[in-house]
Amino acid sequence: MPRYQANVKDMQFVLHEMLQISTADTPGYQDLEPDFTKAILDAVARVATETLTPLNISGDRQGCCLDGGAVHTPDGFKPAFKALRAGGWTSLCCAREDGGEGLPFLMYTAVGEILSAANMALNMYAGLTHGAYSAIARHGSPDQRRMWLPKLASCEWTGTMNLTEPQCGTDLGLIGTRAVPQADGSYRLSGQKIFISAGDHDLAENIVHLVLARTPDAPSGTKGLSLFIVPKFLPDAQGRPGTANGVYTRGIEEKMGIHASPTCALDYDQAQGWLMGPLHGGMAAMFTMMNEARLGVGLQGYALAGAAYENALEYARTRRQGRAPSGPFDPEADADPLIVHPDVRRMLMEQKSFVEGARALAFWGASLIDRAEAGDAPSDALASLLTPVIKGVLTDRGFDSTVLAQQVFGGYGYIEDTGMAQFVRDARITMIYEGANGVQALDLVGRKLGAQKGEGLRLLLAEIEAECARARDLAELVPLADALTQGTAEMMQATAYLAQTGKAHPDQALAGSYDFMHLMGHVCLGLMWLRMAFAVQHSTWTDQGFLQAKLHTAQYYLTRHMPACAMHRVRIETGGDNVMALRADAF
Ligand SMILES: Cc1cc2nc3c(=O)[nH]c(=O)nc-3n(C[C@H](O)[C@H](O)[C@H](O)COP(=O)(O)OP(=O)(O)OC[C@H]3O[C@@H](n4cnc5c(N)ncnc54)[C@H](O)[C@@H]3O)c2cc1C
Repeated sequence: MPRYQANVKDMQFVLHEMLQISTADTPGYQDLEPDFTKAILDAVARVATETLTPLNISGDRQGCCLDGGAVHTPDGFKPAFKALRAGGWTSLCCAREDGGEGLPFLMYTAVGEILSAANMALNMYAGLTHGAYSAIARHGSPDQRRMWLPKLASCEWTGTMNLTEPQCGTDLGLIGTRAVPQADGSYRLSGQKIFISAGDHDLAENIVHLVLARTPDAPSGTKGLSLFIVPKFLPDAQGRPGTANGVYTRGIEEKMGIHASPTCALDYDQAQGWLMGPLHGGMAAMFTMMNEARLGVGLQGYALAGAAYENALEYARTRRQGRAPSGPFDPEADADPLIVHPDVRRMLMEQKSFVEGARALAFWGASLIDRAEAGDAPSDALASLLTPVIKGVLTDRGFDSTVLAQQVFGGYGYIEDTGMAQFVRDARITMIYEGANGVQALDLVGRKLGAQKGEGLRLLLAEIEAECARARDLAELVPLADALTQGTAEMMQATAYLAQTGKAHPDQALAGSYDFMHLMGHVCLGLMWLRMAFAVQHSTWTDQGFLQAKLHTAQYYLTRHMPACAMHRVRIETGGDNVMALRADAF
């Protein structure tokens, strides 16, 4: 059975040595002293190890089942979810007036990594609920906020996101669910939604669906969509779950992973719902939930990679095969541990450098969101640029990283008992849902790069230049700053190509969008590693082993990965002809 022990030390390093949060002027950060954040992370790490991890494999094996129109979660999920709620983990960054803890989004992100790593399927119930909470908090009327937010904050009721329909996934303009206005101001919704995570289950007494639908005579396409709050049970006069609403679970999907998270087909048959936000303003309101979910999915990507890496490392230290090429490492034994082999080292370094770099990027992104929430426009522009990168790159490479962890186990990695196959299976969906990664790349190149006349990119460049400038004062960091500067130059050359060709020849530019997303991912992770290397040089921590390992890993990432920027740039500049040349019937 796989183990999981959260890497609280590394989280503390990112929070306090790299981001220096307790001295940052972000509202709410003044309380985040190292002892305080450590106490929180240690506490959630205990819940993760003792309660969530043991249920990860059993939940995967048992899965959810649909019986008599109701979904049942695997054994042990109810008390585990109750423990999450009782510990306040689901309401960590919800407002105090809604019963939450009022902590910054950054702390919610750090805690979310631990919960997702331990049991991604279980944490999804709470993650989606938080997304619904945020959307209602931002776009709901005062009455709606009063009615739904406290229940969602505590996860007494959970939330869902209802976009997808059989004929409509990426292209939300095709949504066909209808919402007909009623005399009392509510709406009646009818239609079919599919692939709805946590669309039904037995962990909460009510489920609050946020549903994109179209009113009669609404314009076609996404401009005609509105967002509705549709509960599974209609609240009675006391606000308790009352009559069943017209929402029916038609089925749950058999799927590759996250078996303990039910993926539901829901039929809406004259279900009563209430408009949230302006009529035909549904996309803007849903984007609050979708953007948060994208960051949450990026987090799932590296969180699973981190848990898989921990197990691969342990295995590489204990499994003995062959001898070290430079002479026996342990002459008394019949063979040396796997970790002596350079190729096994390569696999471990790939995982370590990805997971720790990704953690730094996710935490930095969360800190930008906290600043943006406090009204800082530049942080908002930068967070908006980084969102598709965090979602797309951290999940693509997170999946690759779980495959590497599985590879370290050799044949045992393919056997379900070790749990390594589950990491791979669970990680795979992160590349698909919340907008498949190809669509994240489109969003980056087609919208985010040019948004506000390129303000996000300008800010990213300023961050990189400032980081390289201060790193160059330290001789040891000069080669690392040079590597990041080179990678950034490749990114800017590719950006210029996209800007020149994009308008007149969109195919030419968009054929390179995926490469561009990964190019920017390398640059962002490179920036994180340079920051961490700088933090090592100025750290007051006494754990030299930890600090030296950080520095080595920074050197590994920046020297091994930044050359990939040139490869991506060259591919982008080959344009789209080679991709588009074949007629559809010539494949
Ligand atoms: C386990 C699971 C859980 C899910 N949970 C939810 C949920 O809670 N709520 C919800 O509403 N949905 C949910 N989904 C749906 C999910 O978000 C969609 O499956 C996903 O957005 C892709 O849509 P699609 O499957 O229709 O693929 P399609 O849109 O048909 O796309 C197929 C492929 O074509 C590519 N593609 C499509 N359009 C373009 C384009 N314009 N340019 C370039 N490439 C393009 C895509 O990148 C993808 O690779 C879930 C799905 C799964 C499998």
